Amino acid sequence: MDVDTIWMDGEFVDWDEAQVHVLTHGLHYGSGIFEGVRCYDTEEGPAIFRWDEHLDRFYNSAKPYDMDIDHSREELTEATLELIERQDLQSCYIRPLAYYGYNSLGVSPQDCPTKTAIACWPWGTYLGEEALENGVDVMVSSWRKHASSQVPTNAKTTGLYVNSMLAGEEARRNDYVEAIVLNKEGNVAEGPGENIFLVNDGEIYTPGLAESILDGITRRTAITLARDLGYTVHDEAAISRGELYTADELFFTGSAAEITPIRSVDDVTIGPGERGPVTEEIQSKFFEVVERRTDDYDEWFTYP
Ligand code: PMP
Repeated sequence: MDVDTIWMDGEFVDWDEAQVHVLTHGLHYGSGIFEGVRCYDTEEGPAIFRWDEHLDRFYNSAKPYDMDIDHSREELTEATLELIERQDLQSCYIRPLAYYGYNSLGVSPQDCPTKTAIACWPWGTYLGEEALENGVDVMVSSWRKHASSQVPTNAKTTGLYVNSMLAGEEARRNDYVEAIVLNKEGNVAEGPGENIFLVNDGEIYTPGLAESILDGITRRTAITLARDLGYTVHDEAAISRGELYTADELFFTGSAAEITPIRSVDDVTIGPGERGPVTEEIQSKFFEVVERRTDDYDEWFTYP
């Protein structure tokens, strides 16, 4: 990975020195929270997409774990902008992370310090350049998503990603690009690192927050862009597995995955088996916005 400098607990440290102790609480119990944010290369220089919303989610994710992040929004923002500048990055992925450090190794994190770090690195398309144009082949995972009554699924918690890893790797072992994960009730929840949208008869549907999904920031973006383009969006939908196969179009959203069409599920062709017209319209609007080829939605960007 092409990273020279990492911000850790208030200091800029070299890659080699950005280390943690093996008895770190977060390593043993998954007690960390994190974000994944994209910074886009635009005519006005690097532009961080929806940084404020990512920061809101970062601090909110810490709440259920009673984790005190003792760095202000301003400090995290300045650190991130400086990392981008110091490493001369035009576009990058930004990974803020907070976790319980070492004290004693009981499950209780009492007296464990909260540690915070930020890294930035260049990152191309998540599911491949071709995926954005032609769509991906996915399978419904045999793993269910943890329910929001079991863990706070709206918190972006490191430990929860073993579920994403199991679902994603199961898909890749079976020659699919990605998985769709059902929730405990058997409804469609999301991808391992993406939210999901369905298009039927020109209207758009996406599972609501009560379906044990992460409140994705790209999900919110897609909803806003689609509504502004004149579409009806049902953002509290309960979607059954069967409805996936009969959808006119399906697509994933995520900071990493951006807007990726889905062309088949469990080898069943979705619609025409290629990126559908509604997906294409929302996707091209999305790239027009994030590449700042329009002045609209400028409030979504933070510039160094
Ligand atoms: N669901 C899960 C489980 C994720 O990990 C992500 C990626 N953060 C998303 C949805 C999409 O969220 P966002 O658009 O904020 O990246």
